[in-house]
Amino acid sequence: MKPLFALVVLVVALLLACGCTGTATEEAFDWFNRVVTSGKVKRKIEIKPMKTSSRSYAGGTGTTLRIANGDPARTIVHELGHSLEELDQKVWSASRKFYAERTKKDKIESLAKLTGKRGYGSEKTKKDKFLHPYMGKWETDATGQQAYTELVSMGLEELYVDPVRLLEKDPEYFKWIVEVIHGVTA
Ligand SMILES: [Zn+2]
Repeated sequence: MKPLFALVVLVVALLLACGCTGTATEEAFDWFNRVVTSGKVKRKIEIKPMKTSSRSYAGGTGTTLRIANGDPARTIVHELGHSLEELDQKVWSASRKFYAERTKKDKIESLAKLTGKRGYGSEKTKKDKFLHPYMGKWETDATGQQAYTELVSMGLEELYVDPVRLLEKDPEYFKWIVEVIHGVTA
């Protein structure tokens, strides 16, 4: 490849990559701000990009989202769900309560075994009748207490991608996540 042509290809590739992430971020924040009306997440949430194919996550007690370059808006919506649970104590209480109710008859199981995906490593879940076993992910902190849930993040992602599917397949979860985004009162 001629150097000039190679440079043009590189510049176009960089522009496309940046454009995709920028658009996805704008779309995710726009949707989140319109849909989540609880008004509790007022602190600035910062996006820090990572290289393509990294696993995106919410860090810094919910105020920093590490997003892999090229990840779609649904992933950013998902991570904003973690921020919401982390930053709003009422949402966190509601998550723990809903989790306990839904999984009271479930045992802790391996996500890798349940899904056949070795990428989950040693991650655990209580699968309930969730649409995806990841929704019941069981994560503890150093003291053995529940650290966070995937209920708000996965619920928001479902609302973003296919709300009708969630309503039809798991109306109880649908009702719960809609209450959460309108601002839980107890
Ligand atoms: Zn998550």
